[in-house]
Amino acid sequence: MAEVLVVGAGPVGTLLAAELTRFGVEVDVVERRPTAGGGSRAIGLHAPVLAALEAGGATDRILSAAVRVRRGEARSDGRTIGVVDFGRLDARHPYVATLPQAETERALRGDGPEPERAVTVTGVRPERGGMRVETDQGERRAPIVVVAGGVGARDLVYRPAALRRTAYADRYLMTDAAVPPREDAETALVHLAPGGVLESFPLPGGQRRFVAWDAGGSVETRTARLVRAMQERGEAAAADAVGEATAFGVRRVLGRAMRRDRLFVIGDAAHEISPIGGQGMNLGLLDAATLAPLLAAWIRLGSAPDADLAEWEGDRLRSARIAGRLAAVNMALGRPVSGAAHAARSHLLGSVLAATGALVPHAYAMGLDRAGR
Ligand SMILES: Cc1cc2nc3c(=O)[nH]c(=O)nc-3n(C[C@H](O)[C@H](O)[C@H](O)COP(=O)(O)OP(=O)(O)OC[C@H]3O[C@@H](n4cnc5c(N)ncnc54)[C@H](O)[C@@H]3O)c2cc1C
Repeated sequence: MAEVLVVGAGPVGTLLAAELTRFGVEVDVVERRPTAGGGSRAIGLHAPVLAALEAGGATDRILSAAVRVRRGEARSDGRTIGVVDFGRLDARHPYVATLPQAETERALRGDGPEPERAVTVTGVRPERGGMRVETDQGERRAPIVVVAGGVGARDLVYRPAALRRTAYADRYLMTDAAVPPREDAETALVHLAPGGVLESFPLPGGQRRFVAWDAGGSVETRTARLVRAMQERGEAAAADAVGEATAFGVRRVLGRAMRRDRLFVIGDAAHEISPIGGQGMNLGLLDAATLAPLLAAWIRLGSAPDADLAEWEGDRLRSARIAGRLAAVNMALGRPVSGAAHAARSHLLGSVLAATGALVPHAYAMGLDRAGR
Protein backbone atom coordinates (compact mmCIF):
# COMPACT_ATOMS: atom_id res chain seq x y z
CA MET A 1 0.00 0.00 0.00
CA ALA A 2 1.36 3.43 -0.95
CA GLU A 3 1.75 6.06 1.77
CA VAL A 4 -0.08 8.64 -0.34
CA LEU A 5 -2.62 8.04 -3.11
CA VAL A 6 -3.08 10.88 -5.62
CA VAL A 7 -6.28 11.05 -7.68
CA GLY A 8 -5.62 12.62 -11.09
CA ALA A 9 -2.52 12.89 -13.28
CA GLY A 10 -3.05 16.40 -14.59
CA PRO A 11 -0.25 18.91 -14.00
CA VAL A 12 -1.07 19.30 -10.30
CA GLY A 13 -1.29 15.60 -9.38
CA THR A 14 1.78 14.88 -11.48
CA LEU A 15 3.86 17.50 -9.68
CA LEU A 16 2.67 16.39 -6.23
CA ALA A 17 3.61 12.77 -6.98
CA ALA A 18 7.03 13.82 -8.31
CA GLU A 19 7.76 15.98 -5.27
CA LEU A 20 6.62 13.29 -2.81
CA THR A 21 8.85 10.76 -4.59
CA ARG A 22 11.77 13.18 -4.32
CA PHE A 23 11.15 13.38 -0.55
CA GLY A 24 11.19 9.57 -0.26
CA VAL A 25 7.43 9.02 0.08
CA GLU A 26 5.79 6.03 -1.62
CA VAL A 27 3.05 7.39 -3.83
CA ASP A 28 0.54 5.96 -6.30
CA VAL A 29 -1.38 8.00 -8.87
CA VAL A 30 -4.65 6.90 -10.44
CA GLU A 31 -5.93 8.58 -13.59
CA ARG A 32 -9.14 7.99 -15.50
CA ARG A 33 -7.78 8.96 -18.93
CA PRO A 34 -6.39 5.89 -20.72
CA THR A 35 -3.63 7.90 -22.43
CA ALA A 36 -1.63 11.04 -21.70
CA GLY A 37 -1.87 14.24 -23.70
CA GLY A 38 -5.05 15.72 -25.09
CA GLY A 39 -5.71 19.33 -25.97
CA SER A 40 -3.50 22.07 -24.57
CA ARG A 41 -5.05 24.47 -22.08
CA ALA A 42 -2.49 26.08 -19.76
CA ILE A 43 0.55 27.55 -21.47
CA GLY A 44 2.19 30.00 -19.05
CA LEU A 45 4.42 29.23 -16.05
CA HIS A 46 5.09 32.14 -13.72
CA ALA A 47 8.16 33.15 -11.69
CA PRO A 48 7.20 31.66 -8.26
CA VAL A 49 6.35 28.33 -9.89
CA LEU A 50 9.62 28.22 -11.84
CA ALA A 51 11.47 28.91 -8.57
CA ALA A 52 9.50 26.22 -6.70
CA LEU A 53 10.23 23.59 -9.37
CA GLU A 54 13.97 24.15 -9.48
CA ALA A 55 15.01 21.61 -6.81
CA GLY A 56 13.25 18.76 -8.60
CA GLY A 57 14.79 19.67 -11.97
CA ALA A 58 11.49 20.48 -13.69
CA THR A 59 12.44 24.13 -14.24
CA ASP A 60 15.45 23.19 -16.37
CA ARG A 61 13.35 20.75 -18.38
CA ILE A 62 10.67 23.40 -18.91
CA LEU A 63 13.09 26.19 -19.82
CA SER A 64 14.94 24.01 -22.33
CA ALA A 65 11.77 23.97 -24.47
CA ALA A 66 9.78 27.07 -23.46
CA VAL A 67 9.67 30.61 -24.81
CA ARG A 68 10.74 33.11 -22.13
CA VAL A 69 8.28 35.97 -22.43
CA ARG A 70 9.88 39.06 -20.90
CA ARG A 71 7.51 41.70 -22.24
CA GLY A 72 3.78 42.18 -22.56
CA GLU A 73 2.07 44.99 -24.45
CA ALA A 74 -1.45 46.35 -24.32
CA ARG A 75 -2.44 47.63 -27.75
CA SER A 76 -5.43 49.58 -28.91
CA ASP A 77 -6.23 50.53 -32.51
CA GLY A 78 -2.77 49.30 -33.57
CA ARG A 79 -0.99 51.51 -31.01
CA THR A 80 0.94 50.32 -27.95
CA ILE A 81 -0.78 51.98 -25.00
CA GLY A 82 1.22 50.34 -22.21
CA VAL A 83 3.97 47.84 -21.45
CA VAL A 84 4.19 45.08 -18.83
CA ASP A 85 7.89 44.49 -18.29
CA PHE A 86 8.44 41.11 -16.62
CA GLY A 87 12.18 41.92 -16.60
CA ARG A 88 11.36 44.24 -13.66
CA LEU A 89 10.28 41.34 -11.48
CA ASP A 90 12.40 40.87 -8.39
CA ALA A 91 12.61 37.13 -9.13
CA ARG A 92 15.09 34.45 -10.20
CA HIS A 93 13.02 33.94 -13.35
CA PRO A 94 11.88 37.39 -14.53
CA TYR A 95 9.68 36.12 -17.37
CA VAL A 96 6.69 33.91 -18.15
CA ALA A 97 7.75 30.55 -19.62
CA THR A 98 5.26 29.35 -22.25
CA LEU A 99 4.89 25.70 -23.25
CA PRO A 100 1.93 23.50 -24.30
CA GLN A 101 0.33 21.80 -21.28
CA ALA A 102 1.21 18.22 -22.34
CA GLU A 103 4.90 19.16 -22.49
CA THR A 104 4.67 20.85 -19.10
CA GLU A 105 3.11 17.68 -17.65
CA ARG A 106 5.97 15.58 -19.08
CA ALA A 107 8.53 17.97 -17.58
CA LEU A 108 6.78 17.87 -14.20
CA ARG A 109 6.84 14.07 -13.94
CA GLY A 110 10.60 13.77 -13.33
CA ASP A 111 11.23 10.59 -11.31
CA GLY A 112 7.61 10.46 -10.15
CA PRO A 113 5.54 7.31 -10.72
CA GLU A 114 3.76 6.45 -13.94
CA PRO A 115 0.06 6.87 -13.22
CA GLU A 116 -2.22 3.84 -13.27
CA ARG A 117 -4.41 4.76 -16.20
CA ALA A 118 -8.05 4.00 -17.01
CA VAL A 119 -8.92 3.94 -13.30
CA THR A 120 -11.83 6.20 -12.32
CA VAL A 121 -12.30 7.06 -8.68
CA THR A 122 -15.96 6.97 -7.67
CA GLY A 123 -15.79 7.61 -3.93
CA VAL A 124 -13.40 8.63 -1.15
CA ARG A 125 -14.21 7.80 2.48
CA PRO A 126 -12.39 8.01 5.78
CA GLU A 127 -11.88 4.81 7.73
CA ARG A 128 -9.85 4.00 10.87
CA GLY A 129 -6.32 5.32 10.44
CA GLY A 130 -6.61 5.98 6.70
CA MET A 131 -8.77 6.49 3.65
CA ARG A 132 -10.74 4.10 1.45
CA VAL A 133 -10.94 4.94 -2.24
CA GLU A 134 -13.57 3.30 -4.45
CA THR A 135 -12.75 2.97 -8.13
CA ASP A 136 -14.27 1.26 -11.14
CA GLN A 137 -11.43 -1.26 -10.78
CA GLY A 138 -12.05 -2.09 -7.11
CA GLU A 139 -11.14 -0.57 -3.73
CA ARG A 140 -7.86 1.03 -2.72
CA ARG A 141 -6.58 2.12 0.68
CA ALA A 142 -3.96 4.67 1.71
CA PRO A 143 -3.09 6.58 4.88
CA ILE A 144 -3.41 9.91 3.01
CA VAL A 145 -5.37 10.73 -0.17
CA VAL A 146 -4.96 13.87 -2.28
CA VAL A 147 -7.65 14.62 -4.84
CA ALA A 148 -6.07 16.50 -7.77
CA GLY A 149 -8.70 15.43 -10.28
CA GLY A 150 -9.62 18.88 -11.60
CA VAL A 151 -13.13 20.17 -12.07
CA GLY A 152 -14.50 16.68 -12.82
CA ALA A 153 -13.47 15.35 -9.40
CA ARG A 154 -14.97 18.17 -7.35
CA ASP A 155 -18.17 16.29 -6.56
CA LEU A 156 -16.15 13.45 -5.04
CA VAL A 157 -15.20 15.64 -2.11
CA TYR A 158 -17.41 18.73 -1.81
CA ARG A 159 -21.08 19.08 -1.01
CA PRO A 160 -22.68 21.99 -2.97
CA ALA A 161 -22.75 24.20 0.17
CA ALA A 162 -18.98 23.82 0.56
CA LEU A 163 -18.38 25.66 -2.75
CA ARG A 164 -18.66 29.35 -3.63
CA ARG A 165 -19.70 29.68 -7.25
CA THR A 166 -19.64 32.75 -9.49
CA ALA A 167 -21.10 32.44 -12.97
CA TYR A 168 -19.92 34.65 -15.84
CA ALA A 169 -21.68 35.16 -19.16
CA ASP A 170 -18.37 35.66 -21.01
CA ARG A 171 -17.34 33.20 -23.70
CA TYR A 172 -14.07 32.96 -25.58
CA LEU A 173 -12.64 31.40 -28.72
CA MET A 174 -9.15 29.94 -28.73
CA THR A 175 -6.62 28.46 -31.11
CA ASP A 176 -2.89 27.70 -31.26
CA ALA A 177 -1.52 28.50 -34.73
CA ALA A 178 1.83 28.56 -36.53
CA VAL A 179 2.17 32.18 -37.62
CA PRO A 180 4.47 33.92 -40.10
CA PRO A 181 7.73 35.29 -38.59
CA ARG A 182 7.21 38.62 -36.81
CA GLU A 183 9.29 41.14 -34.89
CA ASP A 184 7.22 40.81 -31.72
CA ALA A 185 7.49 36.99 -31.74
CA GLU A 186 8.44 36.85 -28.03
CA THR A 187 6.02 39.52 -26.78
CA ALA A 188 2.65 38.76 -25.17
CA LEU A 189 -0.04 41.04 -26.61
CA VAL A 190 -3.43 42.12 -25.34
CA HIS A 191 -5.38 43.90 -28.07
CA LEU A 192 -8.21 46.01 -26.66
CA ALA A 193 -11.05 46.64 -29.09
CA PRO A 194 -14.68 47.78 -28.89
CA GLY A 195 -15.75 44.24 -29.90
CA GLY A 196 -13.86 42.67 -26.98
CA VAL A 197 -10.34 41.61 -26.17
CA LEU A 198 -7.97 39.56 -28.33
CA GLU A 199 -4.99 38.01 -26.53
CA SER A 200 -1.96 36.74 -28.43
CA PHE A 201 0.77 34.79 -26.64
CA PRO A 202 4.05 33.32 -27.95
CA LEU A 203 4.53 29.54 -27.92
CA PRO A 204 7.57 27.48 -28.92
CA GLY A 205 8.06 26.51 -32.57
CA GLY A 206 6.82 29.77 -34.08
CA GLN A 207 3.30 29.19 -32.76
CA ARG A 208 1.03 31.60 -30.93
CA ARG A 209 -2.04 31.15 -28.73
CA PHE A 210 -4.95 33.43 -29.67
CA VAL A 211 -7.92 33.96 -27.34
CA ALA A 212 -10.80 36.25 -28.32
CA TRP A 213 -13.89 37.39 -26.42
CA ASP A 214 -16.84 35.96 -28.37
CA ALA A 215 -20.39 37.22 -28.68
CA GLY A 216 -21.51 33.81 -29.99
CA GLY A 217 -25.07 33.37 -31.23
CA SER A 218 -24.18 33.86 -34.90
CA VAL A 219 -24.54 31.58 -37.92
CA GLU A 220 -20.77 31.80 -38.51
CA THR A 221 -18.65 28.87 -37.34
CA ARG A 222 -16.35 29.31 -34.32
CA THR A 223 -13.35 29.37 -36.61
CA ALA A 224 -14.86 32.05 -38.85
CA ARG A 225 -15.71 34.17 -35.79
CA LEU A 226 -12.17 33.89 -34.44
CA VAL A 227 -10.67 34.77 -37.84
CA ARG A 228 -12.92 37.83 -38.01
CA ALA A 229 -11.99 38.86 -34.47
CA MET A 230 -8.30 38.60 -35.37
CA GLN A 231 -8.81 40.66 -38.53
CA GLU A 232 -10.73 43.36 -36.66
CA ARG A 233 -8.69 43.46 -33.44
CA GLY A 234 -5.06 43.74 -34.54
CA GLU A 235 -3.90 40.29 -35.71
CA ALA A 236 -4.96 40.34 -39.38
CA ALA A 237 -1.58 39.02 -40.58
CA ALA A 238 -1.94 35.89 -38.42
CA ALA A 239 -5.61 35.24 -39.21
CA ASP A 240 -4.87 33.06 -42.25
CA ALA A 241 -2.95 30.64 -40.00
CA VAL A 242 -6.01 29.70 -37.93
CA GLY A 243 -6.95 26.04 -38.39
CA GLU A 244 -9.74 25.30 -35.95
CA ALA A 245 -11.03 27.26 -32.97
CA THR A 246 -12.36 25.85 -29.72
CA ALA A 247 -14.79 27.69 -27.43
CA PHE A 248 -14.85 27.90 -23.67
CA GLY A 249 -16.92 29.56 -20.96
CA VAL A 250 -15.68 30.64 -17.54
CA ARG A 251 -16.65 30.18 -13.90
CA ARG A 252 -15.17 30.78 -10.52
CA VAL A 253 -15.74 27.93 -8.07
CA LEU A 254 -13.84 28.08 -4.81
CA GLY A 255 -13.89 25.37 -2.15
CA ARG A 256 -14.23 26.61 1.43
CA ALA A 257 -11.65 24.06 2.68
CA MET A 258 -8.81 22.01 1.20
CA ARG A 259 -8.24 19.49 3.98
CA ARG A 260 -10.31 17.19 6.11
CA ASP A 261 -8.03 15.13 8.32
CA ARG A 262 -6.31 12.69 5.89
CA LEU A 263 -8.05 13.95 2.76
CA PHE A 264 -6.65 16.89 0.74
CA VAL A 265 -8.00 18.66 -2.35
CA ILE A 266 -5.70 20.71 -4.59
CA GLY A 267 -5.65 22.30 -8.05
CA ASP A 268 -8.80 22.93 -10.06
CA ALA A 269 -10.74 20.48 -7.89
CA ALA A 270 -10.39 22.99 -5.03
CA HIS A 271 -10.44 26.25 -7.01
CA GLU A 272 -11.51 26.77 -10.60
CA ILE A 273 -10.76 30.28 -11.85
CA SER A 274 -11.12 31.93 -15.23
CA PRO A 275 -8.24 31.17 -17.63
CA ILE A 276 -8.24 34.87 -18.60
CA GLY A 277 -5.11 35.94 -16.78
CA GLY A 278 -3.43 32.53 -17.02
CA GLN A 279 -3.03 31.64 -13.34
CA GLY A 280 -5.16 28.51 -12.74
CA MET A 281 -2.50 25.87 -13.31
CA ASN A 282 0.11 27.97 -11.51
CA LEU A 283 -2.14 28.20 -8.47
CA GLY A 284 -2.50 24.42 -8.40
CA LEU A 285 1.22 23.81 -8.92
CA LEU A 286 1.94 26.03 -5.92
CA ASP A 287 -0.64 24.03 -3.89
CA ALA A 288 1.31 20.88 -4.75
CA ALA A 289 4.81 22.29 -4.27
CA THR A 290 3.94 23.65 -0.82
CA LEU A 291 1.93 20.60 0.35
CA ALA A 292 4.53 17.96 -0.57
CA PRO A 293 7.09 18.75 2.18
CA LEU A 294 4.34 18.83 4.83
CA LEU A 295 2.99 15.41 3.82
CA ALA A 296 6.55 14.04 3.72
CA ALA A 297 7.12 15.34 7.26
CA TRP A 298 3.85 13.71 8.38
CA ILE A 299 4.94 10.33 6.97
CA ARG A 300 8.45 10.62 8.39
CA LEU A 301 7.41 11.71 11.90
CA GLY A 302 4.25 9.61 12.10
CA SER A 303 2.05 12.51 13.21
CA ALA A 304 0.34 15.26 11.26
CA PRO A 305 1.98 18.72 11.37
CA ASP A 306 -1.46 20.23 12.01
CA ALA A 307 -0.38 23.83 12.66
CA ASP A 308 1.67 23.95 9.45
CA LEU A 309 -1.12 22.29 7.49
CA ALA A 310 -3.65 24.82 8.82
CA GLU A 311 -1.35 27.66 7.72
CA TRP A 312 -0.89 25.98 4.33
CA GLU A 313 -4.66 25.70 3.86
CA GLY A 314 -5.26 29.34 4.87
CA ASP A 315 -2.54 30.55 2.49
CA ARG A 316 -3.78 28.49 -0.44
CA LEU A 317 -7.43 29.54 0.05
CA ARG A 318 -6.37 33.21 0.22
CA SER A 319 -4.19 32.83 -2.88
CA ALA A 320 -7.10 31.28 -4.79
CA ARG A 321 -9.37 34.18 -3.82
CA ILE A 322 -6.75 36.72 -4.98
CA ALA A 323 -6.16 34.91 -8.29
CA GLY A 324 -9.93 34.68 -8.83
CA ARG A 325 -10.34 38.43 -8.29
CA LEU A 326 -7.47 39.25 -10.66
CA ALA A 327 -8.99 37.06 -13.34
CA ALA A 328 -12.31 38.87 -12.86
CA VAL A 329 -10.57 42.23 -13.38
CA ASN A 330 -8.87 40.89 -16.53
CA MET A 331 -12.21 39.74 -17.89
CA ALA A 332 -13.87 43.08 -17.13
CA LEU A 333 -11.10 44.90 -19.02
CA GLY A 334 -11.69 42.75 -22.09
CA ARG A 335 -15.47 43.00 -22.48
CA PRO A 336 -17.05 44.76 -25.48
CA VAL A 337 -17.87 48.45 -24.99
CA SER A 338 -19.00 51.41 -27.10
CA GLY A 339 -16.42 53.33 -29.15
CA ALA A 340 -16.29 56.19 -26.62
CA ALA A 341 -15.94 53.85 -23.65
CA HIS A 342 -13.22 51.94 -25.53
CA ALA A 343 -11.22 55.16 -26.00
CA ALA A 344 -11.64 56.03 -22.30
CA ARG A 345 -10.71 52.48 -21.21
CA SER A 346 -7.58 52.46 -23.39
CA HIS A 347 -6.50 55.84 -22.02
CA LEU A 348 -7.09 54.74 -18.43
CA LEU A 349 -5.23 51.45 -18.86
CA GLY A 350 -2.27 53.23 -20.48
CA SER A 351 -2.11 55.65 -17.54
CA VAL A 352 -2.36 52.84 -14.97
CA LEU A 353 0.42 50.82 -16.65
CA ALA A 354 2.66 53.89 -16.83
CA ALA A 355 2.01 54.86 -13.20
CA THR A 356 2.23 51.51 -11.44
CA GLY A 357 5.66 50.35 -12.68
CA ALA A 358 6.49 46.86 -11.44
CA LEU A 359 3.15 46.34 -9.66
CA VAL A 360 1.25 45.00 -12.69
CA PRO A 361 3.93 42.47 -13.76
CA HIS A 362 4.23 41.44 -10.10
CA ALA A 363 0.47 40.80 -9.82
CA TYR A 364 0.17 39.19 -13.25
CA ALA A 365 3.11 36.83 -12.55
CA MET A 366 1.62 35.40 -9.30
CA GLY A 367 3.60 37.79 -7.10
CA LEU A 368 0.56 38.15 -4.83
CA ASP A 369 0.41 34.40 -4.19
CA ARG A 370 1.19 33.54 -0.55
CA ALA A 371 3.73 30.92 -1.69
CA GLY A 372 5.92 33.74 -3.04
CA ARG A 373 6.34 35.45 0.37
C1 LIG B 1 -8.81 27.24 -22.29
C2 LIG B 1 -7.99 27.21 -21.03
C3 LIG B 1 -6.75 27.86 -20.99
C4 LIG B 1 -6.00 27.85 -19.82
N1 LIG B 1 -4.81 28.52 -19.79
C5 LIG B 1 -4.11 28.57 -18.63
C6 LIG B 1 -2.83 29.24 -18.58
O1 LIG B 1 -2.33 29.77 -19.56
N2 LIG B 1 -2.18 29.26 -17.39
C7 LIG B 1 -2.68 28.66 -16.27
O2 LIG B 1 -2.04 28.71 -15.21
N3 LIG B 1 -3.86 27.97 -16.31
C8 LIG B 1 -4.58 27.93 -17.45
N4 LIG B 1 -5.74 27.22 -17.50
C9 LIG B 1 -6.21 26.47 -16.32
C10 LIG B 1 -5.48 25.12 -16.25
O3 LIG B 1 -5.69 24.38 -17.45
C11 LIG B 1 -5.97 24.33 -15.05
O4 LIG B 1 -5.92 25.17 -13.91
C12 LIG B 1 -5.10 23.10 -14.81
O5 LIG B 1 -5.18 22.19 -15.89
C13 LIG B 1 -5.58 22.39 -13.54
O6 LIG B 1 -4.77 21.29 -13.31
P1 LIG B 1 -5.29 20.08 -12.41
O7 LIG B 1 -4.19 19.07 -12.44
O8 LIG B 1 -5.79 20.61 -11.11
O9 LIG B 1 -6.59 19.54 -13.15
P2 LIG B 1 -6.71 18.88 -14.60
O10 LIG B 1 -5.75 19.46 -15.55
O11 LIG B 1 -8.16 18.95 -14.94
O12 LIG B 1 -6.28 17.37 -14.36
C14 LIG B 1 -7.08 16.52 -13.56
C15 LIG B 1 -6.83 15.07 -13.97
O13 LIG B 1 -7.58 14.22 -13.10
C16 LIG B 1 -8.24 13.22 -13.87
N5 LIG B 1 -9.46 12.83 -13.15
C17 LIG B 1 -10.58 13.59 -12.98
N6 LIG B 1 -11.49 12.91 -12.27
C18 LIG B 1 -10.95 11.71 -11.98
C19 LIG B 1 -11.44 10.56 -11.27
N7 LIG B 1 -12.67 10.53 -10.72
N8 LIG B 1 -10.63 9.48 -11.16
C20 LIG B 1 -9.36 9.49 -11.72
N9 LIG B 1 -8.87 10.55 -12.42
C21 LIG B 1 -9.65 11.65 -12.53
C22 LIG B 1 -8.53 13.91 -15.19
O14 LIG B 1 -8.69 12.96 -16.24
C23 LIG B 1 -7.29 14.78 -15.39
O15 LIG B 1 -6.27 14.11 -16.08
C24 LIG B 1 -6.50 27.18 -18.67
C25 LIG B 1 -7.74 26.53 -18.73
C26 LIG B 1 -8.47 26.54 -19.88
C27 LIG B 1 -9.81 25.83 -19.90
